[in-house]
Amino acid sequence: MPQSSQIVDSALGAVGNTPLVRLDRIAKQQGLQCNLLGKVEYTSAGGSVKDRIAKRMVEAAEKEGKLIPGYSVVIEPTSGNTGIGLAMACAIKGYSVIITMPNKMSLEKEAALRALGAEVVRTPTEAAWDSPESHIGVAQRLQHEIPGGIILDQYRNVNNPLAHEYTTGPEIVEAVVATPSTDDHLSSGKVDALIAGAGTGGTITGISRAIKKTHNKDCIVVGVDPKGSILAYPDTLNEDGMGGQYVVEGIGYDFIPDVLSRDPADVNEWLKTSDEEAFEAVRLLMRHEGLLVGGSSGSALSGALRWLHTTEKGRAIAQTKGANVVVLLPDGIRNYMSKPWFLKMALEAEPSPLARRIADVLKTS
Ligand code: PMP
Repeated sequence: MPQSSQIVDSALGAVGNTPLVRLDRIAKQQGLQCNLLGKVEYTSAGGSVKDRIAKRMVEAAEKEGKLIPGYSVVIEPTSGNTGIGLAMACAIKGYSVIITMPNKMSLEKEAALRALGAEVVRTPTEAAWDSPESHIGVAQRLQHEIPGGIILDQYRNVNNPLAHEYTTGPEIVEAVVATPSTDDHLSSGKVDALIAGAGTGGTITGISRAIKKTHNKDCIVVGVDPKGSILAYPDTLNEDGMGGQYVVEGIGYDFIPDVLSRDPADVNEWLKTSDEEAFEAVRLLMRHEGLLVGGSSGSALSGALRWLHTTEKGRAIAQTKGANVVVLLPDGIRNYMSKPWFLKMALEAEPSPLARRIADVLKTS
């Protein structure tokens, strides 16, 4: 149901229900016959796909009697977006929040977290996940010492993939099924392929299960993992650039989270992407589709385009009129406005012919 059709009880009522948007201009420019569709998650109340799991994990813990208003302290290691969702939920519900977050994550996320009332602890980006200094290690140390401390643990909590199996996935299916096939936009009536990045892996695992169990078991689900991370399957894909650092936030890890399914029946194929291709794809989404997305959306789109252009199954789908290819766009540029990669893209581009014309006019008049 559209969010605006009735009063919602709190910002949590404005989580999810995000639009599935045609990326027609990019599709045309890329010579694709299929429909290229973006699931735009930055319209969710907290600004990302992770609001959904934050809401579900908090509500599930409340049902289990694990959270006590005025006493509980929700502690979570996160790359920021799960933290923002949790801080939003906890601001409304009256729980304290501590977020542990690697140094590389943006200042914008920290500012949003602090504005929502969370405490933020930064940790060394290069710390191995199982060291006491990592964002996970620090969260565990704090939980042991702080009365009321509880880690909902997005890396292991079944409510992470379930949030996507019950909301994100069904929303994608419903939008595709509800949109009629027309002369302008033929439609197979199915989700034929889904491309998404993985951090915890909850998003891709949950959406895949929703689509394959209830809608189209033959949908091809493609995972995108940054070079330097080890989430892609088979492991040989991860050898190039293993352990290297990358700038894109929210995807990739140095361990396999429990909630990520690497079963090829759930995630059929994997691709590795670089920062450069991700940021170029962000530029495409902004300039041609008017979508103010974040870096990992660029990773997902660049992975989708590579899959559609270079793989056997991808090429077949790319050339099929009416095939529906969905790309998950996890958050918005609000989270990255001060990052050098974005400022360079926005402010240091070659002057356009119009910019040169403006300069001429102002010089002479
Ligand atoms: N992109 C961004 C910006 C994120 O914050 C996250 C969550 N870490 C993801 C992608 C990946 O989502 P998931 O954890 O569900 O794999």
